[in-house]
Amino acid sequence: MFQGRYANIIIDISHEKVDRPFQYKIPEALLGRLEIGQCVSVPFGMGSRLRKGYVVEITDRAEYPPDKLKEICETAKDGMDAQQDMVRLAAWMKRTYGSTMIAALKTVLPVKQAMKPRQKKKILRLADKEEILSLLGQAQRKRQHARARVLAQLADEPELPYELLVGKLNVSLAVLRKLEEQDVIRIEAESCYRNPVKLDCAPEIRNRMSAEQAFIRDRILSEYDAGTRGTYLIRGITGSGKTEVYLALIEAVAAKGKQCIMLIPEIALTYQTLLRFYKRFGDRVSVINSTLSKGERYDQCERARRGEIDVIIGPRSALFVPFPDLGLIVMDEEHEGSYKSETMPRYHARETAEYLAQLKGASLVLGSATPSLEAYHRAMSGRYQLFTLDRRLTGGTLPLVHTVDLRQELRNGNRSIFSQKLQELMDQRLERGEQIILFLNRRGYAGFVSCRSCGCVMKCPHCDVSLSQHTGGKMVCHYCGYETEQPAKCPSCSSPYILGFKAGTQQIEEQLHRRFPGARVLRMDADTTRKKDSYEKILTEFAEQDADILVGTQMIVKGHDFPGVTLVGILAADLSLNDSDYRCAERTFQLLTQAAGRAGRGERPGEVVIQTYRPEHYSIVRAAAQDYEAFYEEEMAYRELAGYPPAAHMLAILIMAKQERTGAEAAENIARCLEERNCGTECGGKLAVIGPARASIGKINDIYRFVIYCKQESYRALIEAKDRVEELLARDPNREQELNVQFDFDPMDRY
Ligand code: ADP
Ligand code: ZN
Ligand code: ZN
Repeated sequence: MFQGRYANIIIDISHEKVDRPFQYKIPEALLGRLEIGQCVSVPFGMGSRLRKGYVVEITDRAEYPPDKLKEICETAKDGMDAQQDMVRLAAWMKRTYGSTMIAALKTVLPVKQAMKPRQKKKILRLADKEEILSLLGQAQRKRQHARARVLAQLADEPELPYELLVGKLNVSLAVLRKLEEQDVIRIEAESCYRNPVKLDCAPEIRNRMSAEQAFIRDRILSEYDAGTRGTYLIRGITGSGKTEVYLALIEAVAAKGKQCIMLIPEIALTYQTLLRFYKRFGDRVSVINSTLSKGERYDQCERARRGEIDVIIGPRSALFVPFPDLGLIVMDEEHEGSYKSETMPRYHARETAEYLAQLKGASLVLGSATPSLEAYHRAMSGRYQLFTLDRRLTGGTLPLVHTVDLRQELRNGNRSIFSQKLQELMDQRLERGEQIILFLNRRGYAGFVSCRSCGCVMKCPHCDVSLSQHTGGKMVCHYCGYETEQPAKCPSCSSPYILGFKAGTQQIEEQLHRRFPGARVLRMDADTTRKKDSYEKILTEFAEQDADILVGTQMIVKGHDFPGVTLVGILAADLSLNDSDYRCAERTFQLLTQAAGRAGRGERPGEVVIQTYRPEHYSIVRAAAQDYEAFYEEEMAYRELAGYPPAAHMLAILIMAKQERTGAEAAENIARCLEERNCGTECGGKLAVIGPARASIGKINDIYRFVIYCKQESYRALIEAKDRVEELLARDPNREQELNVQFDFDPMDRY
C-alpha cells in the first residue's frame, strides 16, 4: 500500500461537485492505515463542520502549503458500504485503464440531479380475451399494424407497461387513445417511485429445463452454495436456451436475498426478452438504458440501494448500480464491441465485471454464440469454466450455406452485385412470398466524390476523411457533421466531371429496384436510422412482413428474430477483412455466423449465400461451416505468432493536439521515453514499441491525431509504461494543456 501523507477526499459523493476532491493531512495515528474508498470524517467549510467523505487518492504531493491543510478526524465506523466499493472500483479503473480519478468516479457514481417526478403508466385490458382476438382479426385485415401489435400482446397479458408498448413496440399514443375510447383498454398512471414497470401479467409458462440447461444451472449453483465464486462461459448458438439458464440462475440467487446485474448490449434488448424478465421477476426488475435522464438514473440507483429491486437489466453502465449485496453478474453476447467504453476511462465491461464480482463476492456468467477470443482463451486455460449448448430448443435446423467466389462470377460475365446463385434463390423466395435479408458487411461505408479528370477526392476541411455523397447534391462528413454542396467544378483542376461513387446500402437498394421490380425493399443503415425510434420502426415493419427484402449493415444481424426469413445474402463478406486491424478476422467470423443464424428461424429451412473474393480465408470457411472451435484454433495461432491479445496485451497511446507540430513532437518524446530504460521490466521482457505514426484518421474536427502502440505479455508492464508516460507529461504542465493524451488498453479498433 502506498504510504502517503496526504489524502484527496470527495465530500459529497453523489453531487455534481464530485469533480473537485479536497486535500487533507493524514494524522499520525492513521498513517499507512487508510485505504482508497474508505469513509472518513473531515472538517469542512467555514465552520469546519464534520462531514463524511471518501478517500479517492493517497499521495505525497501536497497541493497547498501543508500547514494550510486540515486534518482528517477519524475513519467512519460503519464499515464498507456500497459507495466505498464504488470508489474502490473507480480507483481500479483509473489504475487499469489509465484515466483521471475524476473521470473514473464520474463513470461509476450516479449523479444526483433535481428532476420532475415523472408519471409512470400502464395499460390495463378491459375487454375479455375473445373480444380482443376478434378485434385483432379485424385490425389485421385492415392492415392496422400498430393496433394489431397492441392487441396481440393484450390477448396474452391483462396488463402491460406503457413504456414497453410505446418504446419497444412502437405504438403511438393516438393508437392507444383510440383503444381507450372504445373501452378496450384503460391507461393508468402509477406514481413514479413505485417502479418503472409493474406487471400483473399472465403467469409465464415455464419450460422444463433440458438436461444440458439443468446441468449448467446445477453446477453453477452448487458451487455457489459451497461458497465458490467463479466465472463461467456458456457458448451456445442463438436459441439454445442461454437466456433460460440466466433466468434460473438469477431467480435462485435472488431467492438468497442477493441482487443481480444482467448486461445486454442495448441494441439486442428486444421486447420479447424484456417481457420474459418482467414475467419472472415482476416489479423486482428494472431496466436502464441510454435514454434515461441523469435524474432517472439516479432514481434507479437509489431504489437499488434501498433494496427495492433484485435485478437490473442494461448495457455496460448497469455495472455501476450500487446494490447492497450483489450476488451475480450475467453478461450476454459477451463478444459485443459495445461492451468497451469509447470514452475515458476506456474500460471493458468483461474485465470490470470480473473485478466487481471479486470485490462483492459475486459470480460472473458470460454467454455468447461466438465468444471473444479473450473469453475463450481464458476458458481454455481454465480461468473460466466452459459450458456448451449446441442444440436449438425450438427446433429448426441450421441453414444450408453456399459460398460464392465473386472473381469467378466476374469471369462468367456477371457484373451485378448479386451473384447468379443469389439471384436464383431470391427469385424463388419472392415467388413463394418468403422474406430475404441482404447484409453488407461494411463499417462506415461512404460514397465518396471525386474528379474524373485529376482524381482529386473531396475531403472534409476539418477531418482527414473524404466526404460522403448524400441525396440532394450534398456532401457530408460522417465524423464531424460538416455539410456542403457538391461543387460543379473540380476545385483543383476546374474539370466539370465530378462524380460520386455511391457505394453501400443505398446503391444496393437501387439495384434491387432494377433487378427485382415490385419487390418491397426496406433499408437500414446509419442514414435511415438517424431519427429516434426509426431503428425499431424498420425492424417492426419487416417483422410484420410489410416488406420482402431488408438491406442493411451489421445493425440488422443483432437481436431480432424474423421467422419469415428463409434466405440471407451476405453481399461482400470480406470487406471487413481489409480493415488492417488484428481483430478483423474475428469480427468477420462473428458477423457471418450471426448473419447466417438469421435464416430459417421459423418452420421453413433457411439458406445462406456468402459472396466473397476470398472464399479460402479461414474466417469465411469456418463461418460457412459454423465451426467455432476450428476458427478459434486458427485465429489464436495467428495472435500468438503476432503477439496480439489475448496472446499478449496491447496499449494504444493516442496523442491529440490542435497544432500538428506539438502533437508530432509530443508523440516522438513519448516514444523515446518508452524506449529509454526499455531493457525488460520486472514483469518480463522488453516492451515492443510501434510508432509514433499518424492515426489512420489523422485529423478529426481540426485536432491532429498520433498513435503509439505497445505490446507486452504482461499487463502490468503496460501499466508501468502508462505511468511513465503520465510522469513525463506531468513534468511539463504547460505542454499538458495543449495536448490530450489518452490510453486504450487492448483496443477494439485501430486508431
Ligand atoms: P438463447 O438465449 O440461447 O437465444 P433462449 O433462452 O432465448 O435461448 O431460448 C430460445 C427459445 O427456446 C425461447 O423461445 C425459449 O422460450 C425456448 N426454450 C428455452 N428453454 C427451453 C426448454 N427447456 N424447453 C423448451 N423451450 C425452451
Ligand atoms: Zn480535378
Ligand atoms: Zn469533418
